[in-house]
This record gives sequence, C-alpha cells and structure tokens, in this order.
Amino acid sequence: GAFALALGLAACSSSAEPGSGSGGDGAAEDILVGVAMPTETSERWIADGDAVKSQLEELGYEVDLQFANDDIPRQQQQLDQMITNGADILIVASIDGTALATQLDNAASKGIPVIAYDRLINGTKNVDFYVTFDNYNVGVQQAQSLLQGLGYLDADGKETDLADKKIIEVFAGSPDDNNAGFFFDGAMDTLKPYLDDGRLTIGSGQKDFDTVSTLRWDPAVAQKRMEDLLTSTYDGGSKQLDGVLSPYDGLSRGIITALENAGYGSTIEAGLPVVSGQDAEIASVKMIADGVQYATIFKDTRKLASQAVTAAESFADGDKPEANDTETYDNGEKVVPSFLLESDIVVSDNIQSLLIDSGYWTEAEVAAGV
Ligand code: BGC
Repeated sequence: GAFALALGLAACSSSAEPGSGSGGDGAAEDILVGVAMPTETSERWIADGDAVKSQLEELGYEVDLQFANDDIPRQQQQLDQMITNGADILIVASIDGTALATQLDNAASKGIPVIAYDRLINGTKNVDFYVTFDNYNVGVQQAQSLLQGLGYLDADGKETDLADKKIIEVFAGSPDDNNAGFFFDGAMDTLKPYLDDGRLTIGSGQKDFDTVSTLRWDPAVAQKRMEDLLTSTYDGGSKQLDGVLSPYDGLSRGIITALENAGYGSTIEAGLPVVSGQDAEIASVKMIADGVQYATIFKDTRKLASQAVTAAESFADGDKPEANDTETYDNGEKVVPSFLLESDIVVSDNIQSLLIDSGYWTEAEVAAGV
C-alpha cells in the first residue's frame, strides 16, 4: 500500500520540506482511500459519496469512489479491487451488511482499517469504526412525525387531547440493512401506546418486520405492497386510511402514488393519508412543501461525510478515532465503536430553517423538486 510507499520515499529523500503537504503529520497525498457506496438510485448516496470524496481530496488524500448499483457481488468486487489497488483505508456503506466478511478479512490481513459508513457491517471482527446517525431515534422521529400529522402530537412533540381512532399501515426498510430494524423498532415502540389503547389500528394487521419490510429499499416493491393492501383491506381505496409509516422517501413516493391512484386525493388536505419519510430527498421535500407528503427525517450527509473523514484521518495518523457510543452497535462479532449524529424532523414549516438556510437545498431546488 501507499503507507509502505510513503515510508520508502521518506527514507530516500534527504530534503523533506517542512510545512509542505496537508498540514497533518502524515503525507496525505500518498494515502489512497477506497470509498464504497451502495447505489446511485437514491440521491443521498450520491451526495454522501461526493461529500466524502471532496472532503478527503481537500486534505490531499487520493480517493477511489465506487457505487455498486445495489448489486452485492459488484460491491464485493469493488472492494477486492480497491484492496488490490493498494487502498490504505476503506470507507464502506454496505448493501447487504452480512456479505462482506471475506473482503474485510482480506483488508485486515493487510492492515487496512475499515470504517462502516451509515450502515453497520455484520458478522466480522474486521470493522474498526462506525459513523452513522442515532438510528433508533430516527425511527422514533418517523413515528413522531406520523403522530403529529395525525394530530396526536403538536409541533413541539407534546401530546394533544385528540381521542379519535385512526387507521394506519406500517412499512419497514430492507431486511439486509442493519439500520432497517433500528428504524422500525424506534417507530413501533413510539406507536405502541396508541396501538395498545386503540387510538391507532393497523388496518391489515400486518406489523411483523419480515412481513412489512421492503427488500433493497425498492420504491416499486413498496408501491406494490400498498396496492395489495388497498385491494385486500381498503376495498380498493374507498375505506378510511389515515396514515402510513414509511422509513424512506423513495418508499414514501411509491406509497403515495398507490394512494393517489386509488382516489384518496392529491394532497393531505384533500384526503391523502399522512405519510412519513427519511433523507430529505428533493422530490419529497417539494411534496412536503406542496402538502402531499407530510414529513421526512433530515440526516445531514455533509456532517456524516465529515465524521467519516475525521475517522480516516485518525487512522492515517495511526490513532483511534473518537467514539461517542461504544455500546449500541453489536455486529455479532463485536461491539463496533461508533460516532452517532443527530437527525431532525422536517415538515412544511421548517423546510426553510432546516434545509434552505443550512444550504442543503436551494429555494429553487425545493420549488422545482429536482
Ligand atoms: C439509510 C437511510 C436510507 C436507506 C435507504 C439506510 O441505510 O440509513 O438513510 O434511507 O438506507 O437508502
């Protein structure tokens, strides 16, 4: 790897120029960081990939950024290739969190530190650090946003005195993504008191993770399940349905398409059920501004990228990155030291303050939805 190369060069050169280079003690320009992202079909991963790459390059690192099109063998090959090409550090957002043990064994045997990015990699000791959001809390926030849209919580998250009975359906993310269970648990724990006392009912009765999960987070799979539910439980769309827990904006849009096609209306005001989301994707942010989707969860990918870069720098300097959680993320082989970031609920009222003022999206992008 380039570490060895850098050492070799340093040993040969008699006139090291002090003060040149990136400012760290390592020669960042000799360090190659492999960055493996799952897919380009969701814009958040493109934003993540671009942010990690540009922030690393600014510090002088070389970067090999790859997207795997949600294809597991392809991601395995990309990692093999990065290792062959001499990567010194790997940053990996996995597709299937259990499918990379062979690649990571190989990385470990070469002394390459591995940073799991947003999604935990399971079933291997060879994950050195994990940067992510507080995923259980993301699920809590998804349920809170649904309860807010249904009127049980006010804008500050305080319980109102609404006692009406409402009907919902629930969706979960991809079963091979470790995050999906955290999101779902956080959400269902939050909905539980309402389900227990009968204010909320899941119309179809479907609430087991395996039944309501959505393989590869595929919007078409969620749309199809929503259509099937409308046929089986809602008379094709003529029965009361008030809300849908959705864990990701892409799924939310598929669900909303099914609901619109079934005649529930084209805005919440016109009868469309309240639908939650995640990622603040631009198409969904516009739909929130237009009163179509109720909410999303904003996870600032710039901050996550910068946390991954900070961790990579620590490894490059031969240090251990600083964790703020050393208990939660057990991958079956070890508890992976983690750095967790906070997320925010976005509704129409705070698009400006959370997304536009922070420069995440421009006003023009929100207006256009692209
Ligand atoms: C991420 C979410 C994202 C989902 C689908 C999860 O691992 O944490 O932010 O919505 O994958 O891409």
